[in-house]
Amino acid sequence: MMFNIKSLTTKRRKGNKKSLLTNSFRYGALFLLCGALTYSTHAIFELYVSAQSSHQQVSKLRNKALELSASLSEETALNKTLNDSLEKKTQSLEKLNQRIDDMESILGLSDDNPPQTIKQRVDTAAINSAVKATLFQLIPNGKPTPDAPLTSGFGTRVHPITKQRKNHDGLDFGASKGTPIYAPADAVIEKVNSSQHGYGNQLILNHAMGFVSTYSHMSKFNVKAGQFVNKGELIGWTGNSGLSTGPHLHYEIHFLGKPLNPRPFVDWDIKNFDTIFKKEPNVQWASLLNTVGSMVEMQVQLASQNHEATFQTVNQAKSNPKKANTP
Ligand SMILES: [Zn+2]
Repeated sequence: MMFNIKSLTTKRRKGNKKSLLTNSFRYGALFLLCGALTYSTHAIFELYVSAQSSHQQVSKLRNKALELSASLSEETALNKTLNDSLEKKTQSLEKLNQRIDDMESILGLSDDNPPQTIKQRVDTAAINSAVKATLFQLIPNGKPTPDAPLTSGFGTRVHPITKQRKNHDGLDFGASKGTPIYAPADAVIEKVNSSQHGYGNQLILNHAMGFVSTYSHMSKFNVKAGQFVNKGELIGWTGNSGLSTGPHLHYEIHFLGKPLNPRPFVDWDIKNFDTIFKKEPNVQWASLLNTVGSMVEMQVQLASQNHEATFQTVNQAKSNPKKANTP
């Protein structure tokens, strides 16, 4: 029995020792599991944070890509607008070149001239066309009564009323009473003569450069003495006043007090610009052209300078709008 109790106590001690070992093992495993879990949780959290950050970066990059895409679209649109504008400017430059070519050929400017810049070509063409325009403004040209036919020329003839052989110092245009008469060039009205004798109702126009023109046998005046008129202005109406066989306009042109044949002046226009220089030798045309040329050249240069100054001001205003807008 004693053996059994001793044996039982030994068994129990062995059992307790085994149980203690098992428990220690369990706690150790539990501790390890807890450590592993903590580590895993931390790792998952780290991964989560990293994923969030990556997501934000992707989002930022996507936004940046969108912005760049929009900016690229704007740049492309701007580039297209600039290209269109450049295309239009090139076309208008080509047109301008063509117009200068046309002007040069109309003005008879030689192709043998040394090469010039567009500005020089424009200036030369402008001076030449301005000289012509000025001459046509200042010196009588064209018919004073546009639709009336020429019925009597300039020179010696037998007068239809006096039957005497006498110089006819002008041209006669057959026109019914009341046909409008227009100034053939700029002028100042020198004389308004009302008369029933000789030339009848007569106007005398004083033009520039020594030219004078007269209008006789008129019915009515539309101007007063001392008045300035432009080419093409209505100065009065035809009639049958004075020594006249029927309604007509007697038209004279004088240069420095001497009557000239008005025919070359009546026929004178832009298409036959040079012909008058040969047909009318009583005028020193070369000298006159020189004077008008200098006058016009100065105006063209002034206009060109003004244009350049305006162009520069506009460019400055464009490049620095705030400064330009400051009063
Ligand atoms: Zn006459």
